[in-house]
Amino acid sequence: MSDDVGSVVAAIRDAQRITAICHESPDGDTLGAALAIALVAERLGKEAEVVAGDPIPPFLAFLPRVERVRTEPRLEPDVALIVDAGDLARTGSVARDHADWLARATLVNVDHHVSNPRFGAVNLVDPTAAATCEIVALLLPELGIALDAELATCLAAGLVQDTHTFAHPNATPRTLRIAADLVKAGARLSEINRAIYADKPFPTLRLWGLMLAGIQDLAAGRIIHAAMTLAMLTETQNDASASEGFVDLMGLTKGADIILLFKEAEPKRIRISVRTSDRADAVAITSQFGGGGHARAAGCTVEADLDEARTRVLAACERELARGDAGGH
Ligand code: 5GP
Ligand code: MN
Repeated sequence: MSDDVGSVVAAIRDAQRITAICHESPDGDTLGAALAIALVAERLGKEAEVVAGDPIPPFLAFLPRVERVRTEPRLEPDVALIVDAGDLARTGSVARDHADWLARATLVNVDHHVSNPRFGAVNLVDPTAAATCEIVALLLPELGIALDAELATCLAAGLVQDTHTFAHPNATPRTLRIAADLVKAGARLSEINRAIYADKPFPTLRLWGLMLAGIQDLAAGRIIHAAMTLAMLTETQNDASASEGFVDLMGLTKGADIILLFKEAEPKRIRISVRTSDRADAVAITSQFGGGGHARAAGCTVEADLDEARTRVLAACERELARGDAGGH
């Protein structure tokens, strides 16, 4: 990791009150990292709060102390530590509704997205880390904090979430060594894997059935896409978080280089999840629409109806395949 470690450690040590802030539509990595930071801050004798602008998805209810996560900040922190957000806007309603509050604190940006513009006053951005929780785990010895089962469970949730339980190529020897320490300290990997990737409620499988029935391909199967509409959510009585994991199911397709899930958040607001093989760059696609992420997994939002969003993003995908074929990678 970089020299930034020293500045983040100093910022945490010097703070009296720390608010850990998650990205919108929080996942196991942002929540695990934020809850871990709050536990660490409290062990260091500081006041701490965890804020996520969007509600906690039910599959993350197992996270220790998750009930403490607030949608609205209450603490007036001297350090606002943002975890796993590729840019400030990714904090969603926090950046939108609490800009003044954020501006009064020292912004610390701890993240692993390659597209991160280093928006903090202090930045620790390590794109070689499989998860933000991997970075937080590496901070613990620097802060003199030993692992316990709660901390280990929070951090393991991030690793399981972002590596698909160590199946994705972002899981490095360092990731696995940290995971071994977390298991030794009491993290139950198998249970965390089940909570995040299985244990789907029956209505979720009905939704996935509808999405799977509508799956389409393009460019001789090199692009695979599906959509989740608001009508599907109503029909199957799900909320938007029920789509979580579906894109991994699409990833089972052999031979696809770009996999997309179009999610209708509002009639003219489409959230897009992109996954790629090493023959296409997911960030090259999403950055054209103001999004970001990692080379193999990225996302963006397009303010248009589903048909128009699909047309525009699929055109960008075809250009990206052509660029890759022409030796652009
Ligand atoms: P997902 O498809 O699972 O929502 O996101 C895939 C990856 O891309 C995650 O690491 C996520 O943080 C990142 N990502 C998703 N949407 C956006 C976005 O709108 N902006 C940026 N900068 N990153 C995003
Ligand atoms: Mn992450």
